[in-house]
Amino acid sequence: MSRKLVALPQTEQALADGDISYRHATLIAETASQLGDKFQAQAETILVDTSKEVDPWRLQRAIWHLKHCLDADGVLSDANKANSRRFLHLSQTFDGVYRIDGWLDPEGGAVLNTALDSVMGPRLADDDRSAAERRADAAVEMARRQLDGGQLPEVGGQKPHLAVSVDMSTLSKEPGSMAAELEWSQPIPAETARRLACDAAITPIIDGEADHTTRVVPGATRRALIARDKGCRFPGCDCPPAWTDAHHIKHWADGGSTTLDNLILLCRRHHRLVHEEGWTLELAPDRELVAIPP
Ligand SMILES: [Zn+2]
Ligand SMILES: [Zn+2]
Repeated sequence: MSRKLVALPQTEQALADGDISYRHATLIAETASQLGDKFQAQAETILVDTSKEVDPWRLQRAIWHLKHCLDADGVLSDANKANSRRFLHLSQTFDGVYRIDGWLDPEGGAVLNTALDSVMGPRLADDDRSAAERRADAAVEMARRQLDGGQLPEVGGQKPHLAVSVDMSTLSKEPGSMAAELEWSQPIPAETARRLACDAAITPIIDGEADHTTRVVPGATRRALIARDKGCRFPGCDCPPAWTDAHHIKHWADGGSTTLDNLILLCRRHHRLVHEEGWTLELAPDRELVAIPP
C-alpha cells in the first residue's frame, strides 16, 4: 500500500490530511495499479476530489466510469472474466432439503434481483416472513409460474410438470396411511399432498393412476371464482388471481364438491398456512372470511 502511494502524491496528501479514508485511498491505489500507464495525474485529481465527496461504494462506481473512459477494452475484459466465473449449484441434502449456492455476473444478478423483487412485491403488514424467506418463496413461485404457464420446452416429449403420487387413504388422512411422494423430492406429508391435490395444479397420481379430470376446477367455475374473489381471500391479503390456488373449503378427498360455494382463492403462502400450518377459515355471516390460528 505505502509503496503504491509513493506515486500518488495527491492521494497521500489527502489521506494524511484526513480528507479521505484509508478505504478510499486503497481503491485509488488499486485503480492506478490496474490502469498502469493509462492512469495520469488528472485521473488522480478526479478520484481524490470525488473521494472527498462520496463514500467508498459511490467512489467504486465513479472508478468504473473512469476506467471505461480510459480503458474500455480492459473493462470489457473484466466483465467477461466475471461472466466466466458464473455458476449455480442446486443440491439435495440427505434430508431431502435443497441447497442453492451460486455466483452471477452483474447483469445476471440484476435480472434475477429485478424478477424476485417483482414477485415478492411490497411486504404486507401481517407477513412475518424474513426477507430471506420471502426471497426463497419468490424463487419457487417464479419456477411454479413457469411450469403452470406451459411455455417451457418439452422434456422427453412432455411438458415439464411435477407429479405427486399418493394413495386415496393418505389423501383422506386415514390413520396408518403411507406418505405421499413428490417427483424429485422425498416423501411428503399427507397434508402437503392434500394442498397440492386441492387445485390439481400438480398432477395427482392416485392409487397408481394419473388423475387428470375429476378434481380440476372447470374453466367456467374458475372464471366465476376469479370474478367473485378477485384474488387471495385470506384476510388482509391482496394477491392477484394469477398467484392463487383454488382451495376446497371441504377437501374433495373428504367428499367436498368442486363447485363455487366450496371454493375460495388462496395465494400459495396462505394456502400453505391453511393446510400444513393448521389455520382454519370460517365464513362470517357477512360472507367475510375469518382466519383462526391453530
Ligand atoms: Zn386447499
Ligand atoms: Zn394470500
